[in-house]
Amino acid sequence: MPHDGLDEPERLDRFMARANAAYYAHRDPFADFTTAPEICQSFGEILGLWAAVTWEQLGRPTPVVLAEAGPGRGTLMRDALRAIGAAAPGFRDALALHLIETSPRLRAVQVAALGGASWHDGAASLPDLPLILLANEFLDALPIRQFVRRGAGWNERFVGGGALLERPASSRGRAAAEGEVIEVCEPALELAEALGRRFAARPGAALFLDYGPTESTPGDSLQATRDGRPADPVSGPGSADLTAHVDFGAIARAAAAAGATAHGPLPQGVFLTRLGLLQRTGRLARALPPAKALALIEAARRLIEPDQMGRLFKALALCSPGCQVPAGFE
Ligand code: SAH
Repeated sequence: MPHDGLDEPERLDRFMARANAAYYAHRDPFADFTTAPEICQSFGEILGLWAAVTWEQLGRPTPVVLAEAGPGRGTLMRDALRAIGAAAPGFRDALALHLIETSPRLRAVQVAALGGASWHDGAASLPDLPLILLANEFLDALPIRQFVRRGAGWNERFVGGGALLERPASSRGRAAAEGEVIEVCEPALELAEALGRRFAARPGAALFLDYGPTESTPGDSLQATRDGRPADPVSGPGSADLTAHVDFGAIARAAAAAGATAHGPLPQGVFLTRLGLLQRTGRLARALPPAKALALIEAARRLIEPDQMGRLFKALALCSPGCQVPAGFE
């Protein structure tokens, strides 16, 4: 991959941004990992219904932007729109679809799956209208910086010659054990702040589903998946999917400081159970032959079971101050 000054070490977040941009532009990520909407159609349907209920709670603003960040193959949104069309035609008529996606390759897949929509490189160019934003496994792909406690100060991690290096950093302002790693995802915090400002000014809500701890925890969570297997994150940039745990506590605080109300994070299993994922899947399954019915129910359980995706994954909602508590977060 072309990179100016290869000999010069590159800050970890810049390396991760470059590696993931190349990865999502050239590879089929779904050959390396699977995600909730690809596992079970009820997932996108339930999130579509969540968006419809949230629109009611916001006072049915019309027109409204329904947006998704990092829509992948467009599966979540396709399932969501089908459920919205059947259960909430008023919302279907009021909404304009906007997608935040930087990969030209995945944009083409999304056009095929969804047809008409507007595409954006980031949230900043979304129209200045009431907004409902969905994002599944988006934040975990955003680039992180890593700081390591050394002596009385901190070093920052860089990548050079295919290995991690450390360089002295300015103080991170707190004491820590020798060797402790803290991670900061600046683009996620900037997005949270921007949404906070936006939701303070006009009706809106965002729902993030991703994996990470409930509260900010120190530790190195950078991981790479290549050909479906764990790999070295800093070798072969662009050949592996790089992710890090999402710091939901920090995101909620950044959004709240900018004027939004944060709800959660809740374990994904609790959130989806409260929204009736299993009941909905059960109803769908009744119309299927037994083997397919069983597979569908197994898929829904995979999203909910604590030892599968139910506990490590979390749901976080950000909304306009004064809005009712969003569905599932009561
Ligand atoms: N939400 C989908 C896909 C998750 S993969 C699912 O659940 O299946 C991550 C998605 O985010 C991909 O669509 C990827 O191209 C997109 N993405 C990654 N980094 C991004 C960035 N910085 N800006 C916009 N989109 C990004």
